[in-house]
Amino acid sequence: MRAGETLSSYLPPSLRSALLTNEPLWRYTTLRVGGPADLYFRARHVEDLAAITIAAQRSDTPYFLLGGGSNVCISDRGVRGLVAHNLCQGCEIGPLTVVDTGYPFMRLFLKALQAQLGGLEFAVGIPGTVGGALVSNAGAYRQNICDLVVSLEVVEGGERRTVGPEWMEFSYRDSRLRHPGHPPATILRVALKLEPKPRSQILQRARENQRQRIYKQPWYPSAGSFFKNVNDRDLAARLPDLPAPMREAGVVPAGFLSAAAGCKGLTVGGAQISRRHANFVINRGGATATDIRTLAEIVRERVRAKFGVTLEEEVLYIGDWSGFRPVVT
Ligand SMILES: Cc1cc2nc3c(=O)[nH]c(=O)nc-3n(C[C@H](O)[C@H](O)[C@H](O)COP(=O)(O)OP(=O)(O)OC[C@H]3O[C@@H](n4cnc5c(N)ncnc54)[C@H](O)[C@@H]3O)c2cc1C
Repeated sequence: MRAGETLSSYLPPSLRSALLTNEPLWRYTTLRVGGPADLYFRARHVEDLAAITIAAQRSDTPYFLLGGGSNVCISDRGVRGLVAHNLCQGCEIGPLTVVDTGYPFMRLFLKALQAQLGGLEFAVGIPGTVGGALVSNAGAYRQNICDLVVSLEVVEGGERRTVGPEWMEFSYRDSRLRHPGHPPATILRVALKLEPKPRSQILQRARENQRQRIYKQPWYPSAGSFFKNVNDRDLAARLPDLPAPMREAGVVPAGFLSAAAGCKGLTVGGAQISRRHANFVINRGGATATDIRTLAEIVRERVRAKFGVTLEEEVLYIGDWSGFRPVVT
């Protein structure tokens, strides 16, 4: 039996007919790269998202949960198995907000603003869904989504259940769902604690955040910061040009290291290290996923050679990378 047939046998007939084959994925990602999914399912309701992921887990069909595609680099060869695209957008706003994980993160900030609820000001400028934000513990300006989470409704081991925030094992731009080795899981909904606040205060904070982004971020397609910042007090102390607050905090931005290693403007095919922000890999047009990953390997190698630290990706490589051989020069 082929994977699609096995999966189908666990699905109600109404959902079986919604399974597509060989769907190109590049158009669902902000980097605009990625080959086809063997099987592709668009989930608009939480019940359907639960049903498809329960079916995938029970039938042992490999699956990838796609949100806004803003933190992934999908291989040119595409994804074997199923891609479930999360477009579930239910939301009950309040001091305890309960939201489907396909809800756009920035739109959630706007909804909270209308309701005079603070806590999500850092979400301005972070594309993607609430689900993607949870998985990578998205944050900015020293605020992270993990601080707002009260509980989550998940599918794991073919069952649906409610778990507390500790289940996520949150850390800096990380959670258990980013790590291979854990059983696959889907977050369906989350309850977030927001705080009543005057609209003017929320707007002021959000505007400050947005202003900083406009100057720093490139306009080309990207997946945001490609590498994680480095927490290393010894390294920070050795870098005289590092701004003082970062040296004191022992945090070295990956963009600082990339720029200092001469990576700004480096190009592989259609991919480039942005001249505006050295931690952004941009698609200047026609880049392949292989171009992007090769360029990232070059940056990692240059930074390792100059500073002795190994940068770790914030962006996730997804799909079939079996043929990838980096040519690092
Ligand atoms: C211009 C730009 C600026 C950015 N700025 C920031 C920033 O300031 N701070 C920051 O933290 N990030 C930033 N990012 C990165 C990115 O936007 C965030 O990580 C975002 O939260 C990812 O959400 P997504 O829905 O696009 O996730 P996707 O890219 O679709 O998925 C990322 C991972 O999460 C998993 N996933 C998604 N939803 C679920 C779910 N419901 N259940 C289980 N797994 C799931 C996917 O399987 C995948 O492994 C930026 C990106 C861009 C392009």
